Amino acid sequence: RVVSAAPASPNEEAIERALRPKGLAEYVGQAKAREQLEIFIGAAKKRSEALDHVLLFGPPGLGKTTLSHIIAAELGVNLRQTSGPVLEKPKDLAAILTNLEKNDVLFIDEIHRLSPVVEEILYPALEDYQIDIMIGEGPAARSIKLELQPFTLVGATTRAGMLTNPLRDRFGIVARLEFYTVEELARIVTRSAGLLKVHADAQGALEIARRSRGTPRIANRLLRRVRDYAEVKGNGRIDAGVADLALKMLDVDPQGFDVMDRKLLEAVIHRFDGGPVGLDNVAAAIGEESGTIEDVIEPYLIQQGYLQRTPRGRIATLAAYRHLGLTPPSRNAG
Ligand code: ADP
Repeated sequence: RVVSAAPASPNEEAIERALRPKGLAEYVGQAKAREQLEIFIGAAKKRSEALDHVLLFGPPGLGKTTLSHIIAAELGVNLRQTSGPVLEKPKDLAAILTNLEKNDVLFIDEIHRLSPVVEEILYPALEDYQIDIMIGEGPAARSIKLELQPFTLVGATTRAGMLTNPLRDRFGIVARLEFYTVEELARIVTRSAGLLKVHADAQGALEIARRSRGTPRIANRLLRRVRDYAEVKGNGRIDAGVADLALKMLDVDPQGFDVMDRKLLEAVIHRFDGGPVGLDNVAAAIGEESGTIEDVIEPYLIQQGYLQRTPRGRIATLAAYRHLGLTPPSRNAG
């Protein structure tokens, strides 16, 4: 045979799926969320009931999708996955809801982007496992009630603040996912390296972990880039030295900040005298959407103490000046 039987190189998404932990015990970190879920899942299983609806919130890449799959797996039920923007019409959601089996999990990503008409039919579904749907048009139109199987909604959002109150009130379990510690990320890198059959020593894993912005998705992505580097420039093994060189080449600095992080801090400092400056002005200055700044870039900078969010706007902290090698202004004028 001339044609190679080797499988095509799998795309990033497939790799990400392969690296997903399958059970709660394998899910690193997030002790608070994990402990809550362990108890509530155990109780729901004992009673053969649907688990209470769960809201997961936090920045992208912290493991919300992963956790929703784990919840379904631990409950031993099916998972149906969709997202807020995909559900355009009430009937899109109705079709999914009426096909759920007893105690199934419905995962809605970006749930803050549900349209109001779709959200409307979700309320009775969540509360009483029923939906009202309209049949026919014009004067002949009438509404009928459909009974649903009991189910669990797992909603994920980067911004809990953008959920409407009635929707937020219908979640019995609310878990906020936090940035991971370096030690937790090192465990994730080591585990992923094992699955990818890459040799990474403890110091190499730590170096990648330190520069992953507290985020497992970034840790796994950097691991794969560092592996490429190690294969081309070295002997394929990842140690601290190789990781450092590879990450420098990728413009990831020792703090784990990437180009956009530095651009944002530099803009606040150079163009707005260190702030306070409003989000929209920062967005215009660096050519990025304010939503992306708020959801993706800024949370880590704030958590690490490089940026402050005040009612008057964003302020660069002394740490930000130092990180960029700049002399902070004297602020004795208050
Ligand atoms: P989100 O839905 O919050 O954007 P994902 O659930 O898609 O994030 O997670 C991104 C990747 O990070 C996944 O492929 C998974 O391999 C990894 N990951 C996330 N959380 C964990 C964790 N707690 N332990 C191990 N790996 C994790």
